[in-house]
Parts: sequence; C-alpha cells; structure tokens
Amino acid sequence: MSNDKGTVKHIAEERIGILLDISERFFKGDGPAGVDEALAKKYIGLAMQIRRHYKIRTKDKRFGTICKKCRTILIPGITCTVRILGKEHTAVYKCNRCGTEKRAIFSSKPVATPLSSK
Ligand SMILES: [Zn+2]
Repeated sequence: MSNDKGTVKHIAEERIGILLDISERFFKGDGPAGVDEALAKKYIGLAMQIRRHYKIRTKDKRFGTICKKCRTILIPGITCTVRILGKEHTAVYKCNRCGTEKRAIFSSKPVATPLSSK
C-alpha cells in the first residue's frame, strides 16, 4: 500500500529536511534573494507544523537549535553567539534576534580519540 503510515511519515520527514535546508540558506544569505529572515521563519513554522501534525521525532539536529521564541535557526556567528561555561559544563547559545538564551549541557569526560586509546 502506498498510503500506509510509514510512507507518509517518511515523506513528511523528507519535507521537514527540505524546509530546514531552505530556511538555513535564507539565514546565511545563500538563497536567490539573499537574506530573507521572514521567509526563513515561515518555513521553520511550516516544518514545525508538519512535525507536530504527523508526530515525527526527527533525527535532524537542527530542530534542537531553533529559538523557541522567534523561530530562528541558531547558527553560531550569524544568528547566535555561543559562550562556554567550563565549570558548569554548559554551552549557552544566545539568540541575536530576541536575546533568548538556550543552554546545552555537555559531558565533562574527554572524548576518546584514536590516538589516545592505544
Ligand atoms: Zn530568538
């Protein structure tokens, strides 16, 4: 069957990916009309709507970097600034558009590299 749940969710997930790609390009100014934040935010809103409607848990990490207040993709150096709080093991992403802060906790354990684990 072409209309089963798996297929529909797959298509929806693909569309979310495309919408996020386009909105990221608009924020960076790679789009055909240069930087167009209003359109980029509209696409993010659409992607969030599709995600909510089909109850999709995307593996797309960009969803974790969307400002909840103004729907901006947080791109370090373009739409947000990143501060590392070493003692608290936290990275603070501050949105340049609305000033909302988002915190991400990272592990204190060093990451094993091929050279360090002999
Ligand atoms: Zn914001």
